[in-house]
Amino acid sequence: MASRGLGNRRSIRIWIQFTVALKENILENRPEYVYKRRCAVGAWRKNLLRIGNRYVAEMTAHSLKEDPDECCGILAGKDETVSQSYRITNTAASPYRYLMDPQEFLNADRDSETNGWEFLAFYHSHTHRAAYPSQTDVRMALESGWLDILYALVSLQDKENPQVRLFHIMESGDIVEEDFEVT
Ligand SMILES: [Zn+2]
Repeated sequence: MASRGLGNRRSIRIWIQFTVALKENILENRPEYVYKRRCAVGAWRKNLLRIGNRYVAEMTAHSLKEDPDECCGILAGKDETVSQSYRITNTAASPYRYLMDPQEFLNADRDSETNGWEFLAFYHSHTHRAAYPSQTDVRMALESGWLDILYALVSLQDKENPQVRLFHIMESGDIVEEDFEVT
């Protein structure tokens, strides 16, 4: 148990360092990204995110597989259309929170870049709660700086009818629900 605890703390530290490094890299080297971030406030996404049915099914299947723990992953694509999903190991292995494995996150980032995709949404499951961001989810979004991305929540409160909802977490900490198109 002791070594596992240490491992988790190490993962958290790496994750925070990594997201900070990634954010700084984006800010320094990709000015168009900064522009998009700034524009996001008040004029968030002109087009609805298009998520293929298979990706909705994939997020739901992943959620059910990890139940009762939360699962997490990434939706990537371009032009507001999801072209790939990545299952990422939840290193917190908890029913109440998630931490994406930093190496798998990096691998997904590299793969997306290779294919000309960008990260469009992070997804995770709520196994016993509604598909709505928790205070922890909001805090993590603000601390990591990932605000130019959507957060997809899968609720397993009713396992027969898992619910998927999409949110934008604002710099102010406000939560704005986003519609999306299932294609
Ligand atoms: Zn959550």
